[in-house]
Amino acid sequence: MELIRIPALSDNYIWLLCDEDKHCVIVDPSESQPVMDILAVNQFIPVAILVTHHHYDHVGGIAGLLKQYPELPVYGPEETKNKGTTHIVHEHDLITFNNFSFQIIELPGHTLGHIAFYQAPYLFCGDTLFSGGCGRLFEGTAEQMFSSLEKIASLPNDTLICCAHEYTAANMAFAKAVLPNNQTIQDYYQKIINLREKDQATVPTTLQIEKKINVFLNCHDIDLQKNIGIKPNSIPLSSIFQHLRSYKDQF
Ligand SMILES: [Zn+2]
Repeated sequence: MELIRIPALSDNYIWLLCDEDKHCVIVDPSESQPVMDILAVNQFIPVAILVTHHHYDHVGGIAGLLKQYPELPVYGPEETKNKGTTHIVHEHDLITFNNFSFQIIELPGHTLGHIAFYQAPYLFCGDTLFSGGCGRLFEGTAEQMFSSLEKIASLPNDTLICCAHEYTAANMAFAKAVLPNNQTIQDYYQKIINLREKDQATVPTTLQIEKKINVFLNCHDIDLQKNIGIKPNSIPLSSIFQHLRSYKDQF
């Protein structure tokens, strides 16, 4: 399998996963043109579109792609049914075609119907987990988002986190403010700044890295709790997550 990252809009990534026969799936196409260019240059044959949630910067390219490839199945959650989705999928569904087999994982929080597509080691998780951060709570509760992140955290450590935005630098600046004495976070921040200065991408990342540098996966950290003004272990982890998420919203 080959994973290809296509930059789109201002800070989106569209992902292509391609097999040895040049068949590929297109994940969260915010735009159609950059995808069609890559397909043409590499002579890839698209076999499906996968969408994680209904926001325009994840589904905006569906119509353009279907114009060119009218037979292409589009898999997505119920909330995307008016955005071109032809196959509605749910928790635990397994969708299989060509050499691909994706498990559907429901991840409410950013939106209520948000899902991820998982074919080990690839996790296409849209706007749920970012490198160093997580999606905003537009529709779901903090509790829902927290348990969605826990679901992701329970996957194998070598899982490749293929998220839909390049937000890592801002996320690490926040992490540095929340855990100023954490050397791993300081070092990772510097690494990301260096990459971004050279205009290089910072994703995909691995779950193993995220467990070390992503504050939203570290609500159990006593220093983190103290630094955001919470008496250690005085409230449930999902409430600590809620405080951390609103702190980030204002950061
Ligand atoms: Zn979104």
